[in-house]
Amino acid sequence: MERIIVIGAGLGGLETAYILSRMGYRVQLLESGAQIGGALQTYRRKGFLFDSGFHYVGGLDPQGSLYQLFRYFKLLNLPWRQLDVDAADVVSVGGRLFHIPQGHGRFTEELSYCFPNSRNEILKYSAMLQTVGDNIFNSLNTQSDLFGVSAYDWLCQEISDPLLRKVLSGTSLKMHLDANTTPLYVFAQINNSFIQSSWRLDGGGESLCNAFAQQLDSLGCKIKTNAHVTQITNDGERVTGVVVNASEHIEANIVVSDLHPSVTYSLIPETPVIHRITRSRVNRLRNSFGMFTVNCILKPRTIPYLNSNVYIYDDEADLWNYTPSEKPHSVLVNYYPGDFGYAHHLDLLTPMDFSEVEKWQDTKFGSRPDDYIQFKKDKAEALIQLVATQFPSFANAVDTYYTSTPLTYAHYTGIPKGSAFGVLKDWRSPITTLISPTTPLKGLFLTGQNLNLHGVLGVSMTSLLTVSAITGIQALRTEINI
Ligand SMILES: Cc1cc2nc3c(=O)[nH]c(=O)nc-3n(C[C@H](O)[C@H](O)[C@H](O)COP(=O)(O)OP(=O)(O)OC[C@H]3O[C@@H](n4cnc5c(N)ncnc54)[C@H](O)[C@@H]3O)c2cc1C
Repeated sequence: MERIIVIGAGLGGLETAYILSRMGYRVQLLESGAQIGGALQTYRRKGFLFDSGFHYVGGLDPQGSLYQLFRYFKLLNLPWRQLDVDAADVVSVGGRLFHIPQGHGRFTEELSYCFPNSRNEILKYSAMLQTVGDNIFNSLNTQSDLFGVSAYDWLCQEISDPLLRKVLSGTSLKMHLDANTTPLYVFAQINNSFIQSSWRLDGGGESLCNAFAQQLDSLGCKIKTNAHVTQITNDGERVTGVVVNASEHIEANIVVSDLHPSVTYSLIPETPVIHRITRSRVNRLRNSFGMFTVNCILKPRTIPYLNSNVYIYDDEADLWNYTPSEKPHSVLVNYYPGDFGYAHHLDLLTPMDFSEVEKWQDTKFGSRPDDYIQFKKDKAEALIQLVATQFPSFANAVDTYYTSTPLTYAHYTGIPKGSAFGVLKDWRSPITTLISPTTPLKGLFLTGQNLNLHGVLGVSMTSLLTVSAITGIQALRTEINI
């Protein structure tokens, strides 16, 4: 039986290890951090649990994109909380609030009510999302043609009202929208799943990680934390194992890496099968922006709990062309359920490019200088003010807050420049930006958000691609029944 090492216990590593273990392979999972989960990690302050990355998922209803897979992963019985069906997302744009309901029927009715002259265009948009969504399992066999179509051009051609275009794009801080590069496939897959249905998870990423850890344990898959892989060894043709913490060699016939491809390749010593051109190509891949996060503890009974996510944009926000600026122009407010109808803590998230924190990259985590602390404070205060433009009482409601920048994310997940969503896909160049799970080194495979699509949905689909590259598509289909 093959001996498999999976490097990195982010969602991609956990899922790939789970499927392979269930298929009878002997799998060991190595995680460099003290906690598993990568961007699913959580932390506690003053008794409140905060998520660092993942906040909500789409498509967990029985017809949804993620349902079958999450049933297979035995995750459906976790304490999922469906967001408000009439307003899973609330978008504030152009000084107006728009509700984005769940279910394509409700979605088209609500938006047609707000934009009565655009009803046919809204129906066309919804139909397009559903067609792309239906295509999700087929793209395991063939790459979808929609990778070669521009999302921005599609919207400009099909949606004539610029405000409606903003509303349709306004729930998309969960991806890096780029007018020049974002493929329609990425935009539509993600938006479709959240319109199908949207869910928060009580206990956040920790609940997901605990569920995977228990199941992997019962399948005999060992998870080792504080196990930083420092080398992927090979005999010049095939992978032979990995070196952990620069000291221990673990043999394996198959290695799956959940790391960014440039990090994976940096772990492989010079070998003729990996050409310099391949290495430089992965190093040149463009990554998404990072995130600046403000985890807030609120004064008691000041802010009602909203069973929705709120996206606020000021008048200067350019949703399709993010450029770093001192003043944030967008914010996503994510609530955690409290009691008596109030939220006790919540998160504010806004894109942040690594260039904004680059000058502190050589300083040490935990003892960064005062000007970095001041930079974060100024940014956090500006973000709180941006929320207060929509909810004036918010300005005085925050008791304490904690901040993270792309430097924090890079520290905890090892992803280059703390990118939130990994490699940016480019519709003009799907061949170079869609990354295959196979590599020139026999027995070495890739998985995770950088390959195909990011987010919980994207990483889950990618874990299937990776396993099918190892076992063959037929064996996977028999196992998962899709
Ligand atoms: C702020 C933020 C908010 C988000 N919100 C959402 C959301 O609401 N919904 C959604 O669906 N998605 C969301 N996402 C995206 C989603 O969380 C990610 O796409 C997904 O979790 C990435 O998983 P991954 O396994 O590909 O990578 P990662 O989570 O980066 O996992 C990689 C793992 O490898 C480990 N590692 C790195 N180097 C080594 C090494 N040398 N040896 C051993 N281990 C190593 C890391 O410690 C990490 O655990 C968000 C992301 C961010 C950053």
